Amino acid sequence: MTTFTMTIDGRPVAGERTLGVINPATGAVFASCPDCTPAQLDAAMDSAARAFATWRLDENKRRQALIDCANALKAQAQELGQVLTQEQGKPLKNAIAEIKNAAFHFEHTATLPIPVDVVQEDEHSRMEVHYKPFGVVGAITPWNFPVVLAVWKLAPALLAGNTVVLKPSPFTPLSSLMMGQLLAAVLPPGVLNVVSGGDALGARITAHPVPRKISFTGSVATGKKIAAAAAPDLKRLTLELGGNDPAIVLKDIDPKKLAKTLFWGAFSNSGQVCTAIKRLYVEEEIYQPLLDELAAVAQSVKVGDGMDPATRLGPINTRPQFERVIELVEDAKAAGGRMVTGGQRLDGPGYFYPPTLVTDLPDEARLVAEEQFGPALPVLPFRNVDEALQRANATHFGLGGSVWTNDLARGAALAAQLECGTGWVNQHNNISHLTPFGGNKWSGIGYEQGPWGLAAFTQYQVINVLKS
Ligand code: NAD
Repeated sequence: MTTFTMTIDGRPVAGERTLGVINPATGAVFASCPDCTPAQLDAAMDSAARAFATWRLDENKRRQALIDCANALKAQAQELGQVLTQEQGKPLKNAIAEIKNAAFHFEHTATLPIPVDVVQEDEHSRMEVHYKPFGVVGAITPWNFPVVLAVWKLAPALLAGNTVVLKPSPFTPLSSLMMGQLLAAVLPPGVLNVVSGGDALGARITAHPVPRKISFTGSVATGKKIAAAAAPDLKRLTLELGGNDPAIVLKDIDPKKLAKTLFWGAFSNSGQVCTAIKRLYVEEEIYQPLLDELAAVAQSVKVGDGMDPATRLGPINTRPQFERVIELVEDAKAAGGRMVTGGQRLDGPGYFYPPTLVTDLPDEARLVAEEQFGPALPVLPFRNVDEALQRANATHFGLGGSVWTNDLARGAALAAQLECGTGWVNQHNNISHLTPFGGNKWSGIGYEQGPWGLAAFTQYQVINVLKS
């Protein structure tokens, strides 16, 4: 069984204890990761703090380092992808695409300017606004896209001049540990430390006196705990949290044409996407035809081990999440829900659940009201658009949402009425590196991507020079 190492101060560090990592396609432990001790975490934090003193000084060197990081990931995309598929479950093709996407993100971030804004310049004074790093950043990530979500944090944090201690999810630590080792070859020691362990390690990072900023992606429940834990030390926070995205489909679309796109908007990565379509509202006139088309797509999709090239949908990543999806679907059945497809776990080992379309549900049913984060989608009819908008917005979540129509101007106007960070028209899940990505309400605080994501890893410093 392969044991992976942490990266602390540029060196591989084994655990005094280890944790097993399960392949969700088999339900069996296939590798192990270190369970970082408090002393090892202190060593990672000290190393990051020491590295900050020089890393912050040379912006050009940091830009080049990001390009080197991109190249290091690209060179090992196959190997990293295989590890990712084994620990996460997603089809290998998608795992490799995730690594390449992460590499792209390093490259793109390397091009972002860190400006000095001159807000006044006259004979009396010169006033400048600088964007300065915080120091050490604690980065904590979930299990659905472990590599790319880590890089969404690493690339801007490092470019801005911060150093980082990264902790991946205990369900998918291996790809991040491997990435830590690869990037240690191109980064100065201490600039990126990668540690692994359970949820308690995340709590220790948040409570640790060294980091000045915590950037977290994960559930609302954990996000609230982190906000509370960060408060006594007034640590800065970015929280990218859960969603319960609505998609509103108007009657002027062609069900046959859009069914596949809608299906994948909900089910890609087996529904384990923060911005997946999690509630599908369909205008009455096309409700049945669209449902029929969606069912046909669901039945045509192969669910299986991500290492099998024919697989389109892998297993659910974790046993707790698998059990939660089962629980929500059983609750839906009890609430009168009708299973159009799926509705039962698949036999055999592994956490396999088929794409499940559920109708006849009240909005109060848990499958509608809560974030399912798995391959079960409630499909809900509506009579008029105002009613659909009202139902779509009646939630604590506010990550994304979409409107589907041939009338693009109307679609954009309706999308603007959705209370969420991104409103899409005729697409969903398309998170662009050119726009700020973040949530309204309980879906988060702060933004990632583009200049906004870079700004999140900086604080202003005003330099105000009196000339005369
Ligand atoms: P989670 O909150 O259980 O865990 C996320 C990370 O937090 C893990 O590394 C975990 O070990 C750590 N953690 C757990 N308890 C902690 C604590 N008390 N203090 C500090 N760290 C702690 O989330 P998950 O189940 O891994 O991920 C699924 C959730 O993530 C879903 O809700 C999904 O919508 C959300 N998500 C959001 C985005 C986004 O960008 N908004 C992206 C992907 C996933």
